[in-house]
Amino acid sequence: MAAVSAVDLVKVYGSGDTAVRALDGVTVGFDRARFTAIMGPSGSGKSTLMHCLAGLDTATKGQALLGETDLTVQPDRVLTRVRRERIGFVFQSFNLLPQLTAEQNITLPLDLAGRRPERQLFAHLIDVLGLRSRLAHRPSELSGGQQQRVALARALVSRPEVVFADEPTGNLDSRSGSEVLGFLRNSVRELGQTIVMVTHDPGAAAYADRVVLLADGRVAGDLDRPDRAAVTDALQQLAAAR
Ligand code: ADP
Repeated sequence: MAAVSAVDLVKVYGSGDTAVRALDGVTVGFDRARFTAIMGPSGSGKSTLMHCLAGLDTATKGQALLGETDLTVQPDRVLTRVRRERIGFVFQSFNLLPQLTAEQNITLPLDLAGRRPERQLFAHLIDVLGLRSRLAHRPSELSGGQQQRVALARALVSRPEVVFADEPTGNLDSRSGSEVLGFLRNSVRELGQTIVMVTHDPGAAAYADRVVLLADGRVAGDLDRPDRAAVTDALQQLAAAR
């Protein structure tokens, strides 16, 4: 069974003449322990799909399944708990709390859920991410790459059913970006983590096991073990077909 799936998912923003059909019947599953990138032209529905699958936005029709839980029918208080306890998030803008240290940021979601971090996993993550000497620093004392590595540790330390990464390298230089992408890829292999990443960068998507292409709110392609050239090619074909 897929870790996360959309079943005939529809999202309409607004109503009447100004209604926008951001998702127009998306059916797609994301397997466990795989790294999938979602790509497509600007406005194709990538963010909307991720937000609906993460319980951050409500769908108009269809199902957004996390395991066996249909997020589209859950009340807000359940969605808050699901996001905190079952999903890890990595955003383009890091989204760390400025008044907390790196370590406090990493353990915050677990603290809120009343859970303790697994010591071994915590140690593994901060070593692999090179954060051991940075744990007492606040975000303002860290580089962008270090801040995103703190966000990665925060996302993975709870062993979430899925990590959603929204343009995780968008604010990073290419070297820091490669480190983030390499870490995501390794966490699939070493920890069995399931990752779904939205990106517009074919180089970033080439780190994934699979690329799902969206166009006009629909699934428009599916690439297995893509390289950068295959992704660029598929995007150009999509653009030409419009
Ligand atoms: P992408 O992430 O692929 O760029 P989005 O999911 O952000 O695409 O947007 C899909 C479509 O939905 C676009 O036409 C966009 O303008 C529209 N849209 C997204 N969010 C909103 C919103 N909050 N209100 C109205 N329209 C929106």
